[in-house]
Amino acid sequence: MDSINELATALKKFPGLGKKSAQRIVFHLLRQDENELKRLGALIATLKENLKTCSECGNMSAQDPCPICSDPLRDRKTLCIVEDLESLTAFENAGIYNGLYHVLGAQMSPLEGREISNDAAKFLLQHIKNIKPSEIILATSPSIEGDMTQFSIMDILKSVKHTKITRLAFGLPLGGSIEFADKLTLHTSLEARRPIES
Ligand SMILES: [Zn+2]
Repeated sequence: MDSINELATALKKFPGLGKKSAQRIVFHLLRQDENELKRLGALIATLKENLKTCSECGNMSAQDPCPICSDPLRDRKTLCIVEDLESLTAFENAGIYNGLYHVLGAQMSPLEGREISNDAAKFLLQHIKNIKPSEIILATSPSIEGDMTQFSIMDILKSVKHTKITRLAFGLPLGGSIEFADKLTLHTSLEARRPIES
């Protein structure tokens, strides 16, 4: 396999890329300056090296604790539990939330045999113990997997007392993901969040 095909095959595995778009990217790269390609290659090669997982919330950034956990201007009494970094980024890009996050790093998917690990559960409970939030917002995706993740979180939170637990209101497209929700939809579902009866 030549380099063009090999790179196209590798890119085809990226989310949202089919064979044609993968090839278009390769031909786009072929037209670039060699230094630019080296810079891009180095960015990919060192992506993980330069990132740390926040020991408080599970976010990834260049520092630990992450800029969100170490920001004194954030509301430290509201904790939003998200499934992944994509969801956290969607909330941050929308600029609609000023509390802290907890990144679960797992979404339940019984078909794929994924579930919230014991370590992830312990990590979440430790975070809650440390910051003693007055409200915990469950921001799981509006999908079957998201609902199952929410039930698992509720199970983990059984021992948490004196904390209001809310979930995002519907309005997010069913079966969709927080990652792709537009700012207005995300804002509405956050503003209209409602308490969960445990
Ligand atoms: Zn953090």
